Amino acid sequence: GKGDVGFIGLGTMGREMVRNLLGAGHRVRAFDIAAAAVEDAVAAGAVAASSPADAAHGCDLAISMLPDTPHVEAVIYGADGLLAAPPAGRLVVDMSTISPVAVRRMHADLAAAGTAFLDAPVSGGPVGAKNATLSIMAGGDADAFVRARPVFEAMGTTITHVGAPGAGQTVKLCNQLVCGLNIQAICEALALGRASGVDLEQLRHVLLGGSAASWMLDKLGPAMIAGDAGAGFRIDLMFKDLRLVQEHAQALSVPLPGTALVTGQYVEARAHGEGANGNQALFRVYDRMTNQ
Ligand code: NAD
Repeated sequence: GKGDVGFIGLGTMGREMVRNLLGAGHRVRAFDIAAAAVEDAVAAGAVAASSPADAAHGCDLAISMLPDTPHVEAVIYGADGLLAAPPAGRLVVDMSTISPVAVRRMHADLAAAGTAFLDAPVSGGPVGAKNATLSIMAGGDADAFVRARPVFEAMGTTITHVGAPGAGQTVKLCNQLVCGLNIQAICEALALGRASGVDLEQLRHVLLGGSAASWMLDKLGPAMIAGDAGAGFRIDLMFKDLRLVQEHAQALSVPLPGTALVTGQYVEARAHGEGANGNQALFRVYDRMTNQ
């Protein structure tokens, strides 16, 4: 049969990824600190687990999809964590966006205990997670990647081994830098267009047909124009990603002035209580700056 998967972290992304694993015929043991998230996964066909160790129990591999570095560290190093209680197949895959330095330590510590590890963050948002069209970028040993690949194929369409431990996170941080600056560029175009009195939906349509087209304009543009502040990829998570980009760049002495600039817009959004809103809410910073 298909590989059995222990899945830890059943939020915006994880809940959809679990559904696709189940749909592809994998058995899934699901854990989240939020009991309602586990119940939801059980309703979709997963088996409830009571800890990371319990999720991994008897599985070919364990996957984590958690907010930030400390959450993944808790799941690996904590009581009932995966370092002490790895899956039977001795393969752990973290798909969160976290620190490349932290994941290199996880690779080393798990390897010393005889467990392979991949840092395999994703791009494509909640819709990509739902439609199993994620882009998955993995760092780690080639043989671990070969073993994980059939599981990745249940969740994504662009699946790439990008290099050594930590390389998955490095590529993901490059992705996030482009996304953040792109969102800001769209906000500025919409702010200028709005102040000039042009139709913003038409502006978006025209830009999508030319060289300014982008995923963000396509997918987030309508919610930006509508002033929608709903969930999705949260402002707080992008702020975390921009922090990780800057930490990584500073350690390598790579100046990223554009990233620093857009981070300030995210600070403003969070200060106005928008941390739990989706990234389209960055346009509301421009509402305030232009009093529109
Ligand atoms: P989320 O906050 O919606 O979900 C995280 C889940 O982890 C929650 O259900 C939470 O209860 C659970 N959790 C937290 N600590 C835990 C622990 N110690 N043990 C078990 N469960 C725990 O986040 P998300 O949007 O699903 O994002 C997850 C990761 O994927 C983040 O690193 C994010 O940056 C990245 N990501 C998100 C998107 C997106 O569009 N949402 C896209 C690509 C990548």
